[in-house]
Amino acid sequence: MTNIDLRGKRALVAGVADAVGFGFAIAKSLAECGAQVAVASWPPAMGIFETMLRRGKMDDSRRLGDGRILEFSKIYALDAAYDTMEDVPADVRDNKRYSERGDFTIAGLVENWRKDFGPDSMDILVHSLANGPEAAKDVIDTSRRGYLSALGVSAYSMVSMVAKFGPLMPRGASAISLTYLGAQQVIQGYGGGMNAAKAALESDTKYLAFQAGRRYGIRVNTISAGPFATRAASATGKIKEYIEHYEMHAPLQERLTQEEVANVVSFIASPLASGITGSTVFVDKGFHAMGISGA
Ligand code: NAD
Repeated sequence: MTNIDLRGKRALVAGVADAVGFGFAIAKSLAECGAQVAVASWPPAMGIFETMLRRGKMDDSRRLGDGRILEFSKIYALDAAYDTMEDVPADVRDNKRYSERGDFTIAGLVENWRKDFGPDSMDILVHSLANGPEAAKDVIDTSRRGYLSALGVSAYSMVSMVAKFGPLMPRGASAISLTYLGAQQVIQGYGGGMNAAKAALESDTKYLAFQAGRRYGIRVNTISAGPFATRAASATGKIKEYIEHYEMHAPLQERLTQEEVANVVSFIASPLASGITGSTVFVDKGFHAMGISGA
């Protein structure tokens, strides 16, 4: 029998702040497969996340198939809008949710990881974060600032993370991000430059696969997930409609679960997928394949 075996692998899932998002399900699936999992959390959401963990409010969600409880090897602070502390405006740096978090930039995260785990220690890097301040606005009504913010946080952050973690990733390691069909086709209500951010992410996946593949021997892929009612997805105000639309028109008329997405991440991260890089892998019950249905 062939199983996904990630024992002895170390993973970081960036973009975990509750038990509902894809990031948490991915962390759990990686742990089910035997990986040691750390997470990175956005400072504005991190305090509540840590409190919920401490108070045992997430214990049920943290239970693994074999009865063990998911333990994070570390919880890092990360604001993916910033590469170094010099980029951080004074009002953010002094904000009470940031000021005690040390270096929460991408460079800081990488340096903290290197101190904690040393060279060749990043086997699985998962980018499960996105943010667009104007995501609920039509693209045509989006400001330059909102558009560029969506691109910076949701797409460039993956480039920056692969560039900075690359030297700590052994050959065969894997970097994976999460994308959405709105990159490729019009999804009404998916706006604020998030469409462009996801298109950038998908194109960068190919370039990073080539360049980080040649430089470090690592793989880079992105998973295009169907809609699921997470906190980020609720920002468009349309998530319920999207889910119902998919259920009606996808080849498989079923609701997508976080586990279905997370298990594909574990597979792609594993040596079983050693031949896959530069790919956008759809996990959406087949919706992306459709033109007209129900005619
Ligand atoms: P989520 O809200 O659980 O995850 C998004 C995470 O990003 C949150 O933990 C949030 O705190 C974090 N974040 C926001 N701004 C940040 C910043 N500046 N720096 C660091 N972290 C920041 O929602 P999710 O839907 O699980 O999103 C995870 C990924 O999946 C995203 O890339 C999203 O676009 C993608 N995705 C989601 C859906 C869906 O329908 N939920 C579909 C396809 C793709």
